[in-house]
Amino acid sequence: MTDQNAAPTNFIRQLIDRDLAEGRQRKVVTRFPPEPNGYLHIGHAKSICLNFGLAVDYQGECNLRFDDTNPEKESEEYVSAIQRDVSWLGFQWAGEVRYASGYFEQIHDCAVELINKGLAYVDELSAEQMREYRGTLKEPGKPSPFRDRSVAENLAMFAKMRAGDVDEGKAVLRAKIDMASPNINMRDPVLYRVRKVSHHQTGDKWCIYPMYDFTHPISDALEGITHSLCTLEFEAHRPLYDWVIEHCTLPAQPKQTEFARLNLNYTVTSKRKLKQLVDEGHVSGWDDPRMPTIAGLRRRGYTPASLRKFCDMVGVARADSIVDMGMLESAIRDDLNQNAPRAFCVLRPVKVVIENWDADKVEILNGPVHPQNEAMGTRPIPMTREVFIDREDFLEEADKKYKRLVLGDEVRLRYGYVIRANEVIRDASGEISEIRCSYDPDTLGKNPEGRKVRGVIHWVSASRHVACEVRLYDRLFTEANPDKTEEGKTFLDSINPKSLTVFADAVAEESLASAEVAQGFQFEREGYFAVDPDSSADRKVFNLTVGLKESF
Ligand code: ATP
Ligand code: MG
Repeated sequence: MTDQNAAPTNFIRQLIDRDLAEGRQRKVVTRFPPEPNGYLHIGHAKSICLNFGLAVDYQGECNLRFDDTNPEKESEEYVSAIQRDVSWLGFQWAGEVRYASGYFEQIHDCAVELINKGLAYVDELSAEQMREYRGTLKEPGKPSPFRDRSVAENLAMFAKMRAGDVDEGKAVLRAKIDMASPNINMRDPVLYRVRKVSHHQTGDKWCIYPMYDFTHPISDALEGITHSLCTLEFEAHRPLYDWVIEHCTLPAQPKQTEFARLNLNYTVTSKRKLKQLVDEGHVSGWDDPRMPTIAGLRRRGYTPASLRKFCDMVGVARADSIVDMGMLESAIRDDLNQNAPRAFCVLRPVKVVIENWDADKVEILNGPVHPQNEAMGTRPIPMTREVFIDREDFLEEADKKYKRLVLGDEVRLRYGYVIRANEVIRDASGEISEIRCSYDPDTLGKNPEGRKVRGVIHWVSASRHVACEVRLYDRLFTEANPDKTEEGKTFLDSINPKSLTVFADAVAEESLASAEVAQGFQFEREGYFAVDPDSSADRKVFNLTVGLKESF
């Protein structure tokens, strides 16, 4: 059934293969059901790749459905950001975007059906009393005094709730299952609560909202979902999922299957914590390039292919584990190493004046766009009398091991000539403001006779370049597990104070003038970078995507 380019097999694919082989299903229909209460993160990417990937591989369908039952925490901003992220990852949902709120009428009908069957009741215990009555893991719960109300009374009370005649917190609708169940989720779970707030999709139409555990199985059944995949924390909710499917009249009988969530070290993957980072200003926004959000990773320079590759590498299992950030970084490094055009960018420019080069002479040199891939062509690199090199590529004195420019010695300007440093000029503060050099005209594409140059360095013309700001990033947290903190501390205490370093006066080669937002480059000897949307016509901003080599 699956083709050889498909992701490696896993227990979910095996389950689907059995369902198809034994005729339980004829077509695979999955869904990705985000709650629009924040931006998607790398963990969601795993769920997206799994659900949409299965639909692609089995020629089935995958729906995008907003699980929007908590109007207070949700917003249209999140709804659009989530759609953008799913599309950007390279997936297309079947038909229109769907909303659980689009099923509020049917979900309400299911509630009424359960009341009529004597399987649901309106409870007027306070939240605190309900907690007490629920019991504990060791002790069974006890029935609410409202548990045995008549069907007629329940219908009337539920209608009052819907009509807005019951205050928030004064009554809820509960399933009548088993107060002594060893599974606390089955001790008469709440199905509906009163919330007198507007909803981003349904406006003021409703003042009662269904709970996730009631909404989800009904939405799945209405959409004909065959395999409802969710993370392990829902395992104990599965009996409730099945109970709802069993007792409500629905067009299909979906099944829930759980898989392990993706955990990544040196970051947090909880929307609540990510929102806190944004709201408290620890980062510049949901798309701050240090964030593990899809929007942040996109801005950082990750490609959709690299994220899909990463999700394949991680695989799908039933056991929880923590994936090393290095794996994510190597997925994008492999992609960019193969595909990113090369360019020069000098982060800490210092001027080099080549005294034997005519003042107005410009020679256009050629550099390969990719040294291992000739098909990508060449790039023009203008050579002029004044060029910039990196301050860190020059020393007045150094031993032979130093492979860069040293006073009185030679180095090659990559794809250009060999230069010799003759003298330094200092500014009033004593800092080197200029290195006076000479060049050897006989060294383009060949080595000087009888002398050995120290090394090769990158450079940029001082008169023909693009001004830029370069933002270097390090991990957002210093702790591998920011959540596991000592008493009295939170994940915020392990934020890395040095996660961002800005080089505001960098210069990049002229060919980058036309680089577009999100385009990725390898800055030779520096790392992989992507154009940030903060760029303007005459000043580019680049984000470090990932270093050239693994740093940990
Ligand atoms: P968070 O804990 O960050 O708030 P969530 O599970 O509440 O995440 P939802 O919007 O409800 O977020 O998630 C949509 C889908 O993505 C769900 O099916 C959920 O199981 C899945 N998902 C969420 N986080 C992860 C993760 N870390 N790894 C894999 N799947 C995830
Ligand atoms: Mg959730």
